[in-house]
Amino acid sequence: MSAPGEHRRLREQLGWYALGHGTPEERAGVRAHLDGCAACRAELAELTPLTAWLDRVDPDRLDDRPAPPPGLGDAVLARIAAERPRRASSRRALAAAAVVGVAAAGFGIGWLARPVPDPLPLEPVAVQAGPGIEATADVVPHTWGLEVRLTGEGFTAGAVYRVVVTDEDGAAVPAGQFLGVGPAELRCNLNSSVLREDAAGFRVVAADGTVVASSEL
Ligand SMILES: [Zn+2]
Repeated sequence: MSAPGEHRRLREQLGWYALGHGTPEERAGVRAHLDGCAACRAELAELTPLTAWLDRVDPDRLDDRPAPPPGLGDAVLARIAAERPRRASSRRALAAAAVVGVAAAGFGIGWLARPVPDPLPLEPVAVQAGPGIEATADVVPHTWGLEVRLTGEGFTAGAVYRVVVTDEDGAAVPAGQFLGVGPAELRCNLNSSVLREDAAGFRVVAADGTVVASSEL
């Protein structure tokens, strides 16, 4: 049963009310309006988790700021950011407002500005596979060595296979092991310390030493 003008005026004061500011008379006025205005009560309920979050912000350790509550709207953040330094001048309040400003801006532009990783330079290679096995592979030339991305079917379920990358001198360098999963598709990334320019190929070796798949690079 409150006048529209009073509602507009008090609605703008909910921010500092939620932060515990205002004279006793001002706070009593807000409370009296809240008793009769469901819209303002709902808005206050929305602001309260935010003020609890702001109070945990340590201005000396802004990088360790706690995550904002989920679902916090940009509009609410921006309003609190604008309101807080005007109503409270402590260093903590100013720092918190700065954090909220950064957070509000981040919500808006973070998605667009996020770094997009370069696609990996995958190099498809031919794989010769033994009976019952189908396999394809890509290799990735990392600075630390060659990665083999193996996709295949027909590796005996439960059997251990090891993968070696061979270098130009014929040495076989371990690149890891995997368990066969039978007819299901197996996708496995194997890493070796052989650089791409030194790598001559790779082999997939069964437990009995049989080479079941191989590739020349
Ligand atoms: Zn109201």
